[in-house]
Amino acid sequence: TGARPNGPTTHPTTCCYCGVGCGVVVKQELDGRLTVAGDPQHPSNRGQLCSKGMNLHYTVMDQSDRLLYPQMRASRSMPRQHVSWDEALDRTAAVFRTLIQKYGPDAVAFYVSGQCLTEEYYLVNKLIKGFIGSNNIDTNSRLCMSSAVVGYKLTLGEDSVPVCYDDLEAADVFYVQGANPAWCHPIIWRRIEAHKAANPAVKIICVDPRRTDTALSSDLHLPLRPGTDIVLNNALGRILIEEGYLDADFIARRTDGFEAYRAQVMQRTVEEAADLCGLDPEAIRQAATWIGRSKGFLSLWTMGMNQSVVGVNKNLSLIDLHLITGRIGKPGNGPFSLTGQPNAMGGREVGGLANGLPAHRDVTNPTHRAEMEAFWNSPVHIADKPGLTATELFEALADDAQPLKAIWIINTNPLVSLPNTPAVEEALKKARFVVVQDISSRADTVAYADVVLPAAGWLEKEGTMTNAERRITYLPQVLAAPGEALPDAEIIWRFAQKMGFEKAFNYQSTSEVYQEYAQSTLGTNVDVTGVSYALLREKRSVQWPYPAGSHGQGTPRLFTDHRFYTPNGRAQLHAVPDGNASEPTDEDFPLILTTGRLRDQWHTMTKTGRVAKLNQHTPEPFLQLHPQDAAARGIRDGQLVQVTGRRGEVRVKAQLSEDVRPGLCFLPMHWGKLLESTLGRANNLTHSLLDPRSKEPDYKYSAVQVLPYRKV
Ligand code: SF4
Repeated sequence: TGARPNGPTTHPTTCCYCGVGCGVVVKQELDGRLTVAGDPQHPSNRGQLCSKGMNLHYTVMDQSDRLLYPQMRASRSMPRQHVSWDEALDRTAAVFRTLIQKYGPDAVAFYVSGQCLTEEYYLVNKLIKGFIGSNNIDTNSRLCMSSAVVGYKLTLGEDSVPVCYDDLEAADVFYVQGANPAWCHPIIWRRIEAHKAANPAVKIICVDPRRTDTALSSDLHLPLRPGTDIVLNNALGRILIEEGYLDADFIARRTDGFEAYRAQVMQRTVEEAADLCGLDPEAIRQAATWIGRSKGFLSLWTMGMNQSVVGVNKNLSLIDLHLITGRIGKPGNGPFSLTGQPNAMGGREVGGLANGLPAHRDVTNPTHRAEMEAFWNSPVHIADKPGLTATELFEALADDAQPLKAIWIINTNPLVSLPNTPAVEEALKKARFVVVQDISSRADTVAYADVVLPAAGWLEKEGTMTNAERRITYLPQVLAAPGEALPDAEIIWRFAQKMGFEKAFNYQSTSEVYQEYAQSTLGTNVDVTGVSYALLREKRSVQWPYPAGSHGQGTPRLFTDHRFYTPNGRAQLHAVPDGNASEPTDEDFPLILTTGRLRDQWHTMTKTGRVAKLNQHTPEPFLQLHPQDAAARGIRDGQLVQVTGRRGEVRVKAQLSEDVRPGLCFLPMHWGKLLESTLGRANNLTHSLLDPRSKEPDYKYSAVQVLPYRKV
């Protein structure tokens, strides 16, 4: 109700795409037009934005596919009708209550997203774990970083990223493994490039079976065979030991498990390891020497490490390298798992995974459960076993013998993003009840919803996010949401009230939700009791932990002069076996398919797909194939090919390139819907094999055959 502005207004906020978490200044003209620019005051990006960030305003200004009002259908054969919010939420609450009464609390589930704000994550988690009594909540962040979460826990004691972006300018050796930051975390990459330009002695080592833009700009590219990362890391460990690059004092004072680690890495010679990896042993020695001699050794990784049946082991083998050299807790040093989504970290903090509770508590820990039951004044006991994880939720929906019957999907598009999409489609058809809460009808999953709830998007709601370096930023509401769309947090608290939990979900603002979450962190390693919206408006951002009474910008680095978060305060080294149990290739499916991202698209394109400028970079999906493999199959560049796997098929144009190894092909992950002549949904080909500890799927290794497409 404030006075009308008499000129343009500016609003500092945060980019809603990747985990870099760049500060953005949105300028709104009097006629409503928007422009965006990088926020020079924001320490993460210092005024820079990548192509996706620079075009953010187009995604807001194009409202053509927005969901504008709640919709509901009486049965699967009926079309959905426009209904009121009360009708939609009353019906959903009635169905949930009926299913819970008949099959127990595990009859229902929420599947949420790393694009949810922290407050939204907290509320859904509180509702299902603390009030419904089920741990059936998981997030699409499971698909990108849960192996890193487990890796940090098993080595450092908790899911705590030890480093910060300022370490980028303090490092002199970057070990980039299974990541392509030049395309997927561009502002981090620009900071590394600028640092290297000013300091030519800085070395970048890129470990990737593909010759990506990151690999092209690196000093040393190690194009290893897919799935052999642990073999390589153990070989590096062996060389570091043999060449005397250990920090013996650090190992003795601050770690456990070194002897078992040494015995493991000594099992293979460097030559044997190089042979398994398909690499030159001298290149491995070169990488080890640079790491051993460095003053600042920073490793960066993402999906190539995490999305694997041995994703946790890959993480352990990398963190081991930091622990044996003592390269952690010091400027420019540490293992840095980059997050893919803008608030994957916020979700981790509030316990938004099937096994978590707020402030890194765990549902399997009786003390943690008791603390949260008391804090929430829960009417039920929190279940003592982890709930179903992302892929498990959809498998259970398809299985009549399982109690799960209903799923509520928030801000994610599992029909395109989960592996083995033919099976996901079956699950959505078989589910008794599907609720989809989203901003856009472009999300393919909407077609399967019994109830559709229109959500407010970026700039249309307020809340907080945490980026990859533990930096919490505030996002103000700048615009009114279109139609009847509501902020996600309000949808959840209204629904919780319909379920009979009026008192515990009687919020008037997301600020109250944040304050409640902050109080739940008191005395933990994630303590943010000093953070409030008022503080974030004043400081723009702070790094947790930030206990009450803190000053300044928070805590840039962890483990600098105190204990690790393990029970005895010592980091745990792991002897990591180097086997891999990915899907085997055979005569019928002789090639390995890896999937990944393109520079200018985001996830399943529900936002970036609206922006003409971004679509120009790569207008349609393609299969990158080595010329040798193409020649053996009579495939020409640009020809339409059929990619077939054990679960489904894809039809795309071939792009012949030596950027992939022979025997490997690459398909971007973004496309969902049928295009005119091609069918590019990459996850028709991927499978549901998981890492047993992180439950993260193995998107990077599926067996396929590629042949020229012949119309039948
Ligand atoms: Fe947004 Fe990530 Fe690009 Fe920064 S690097 S502008 S957070 S997409």
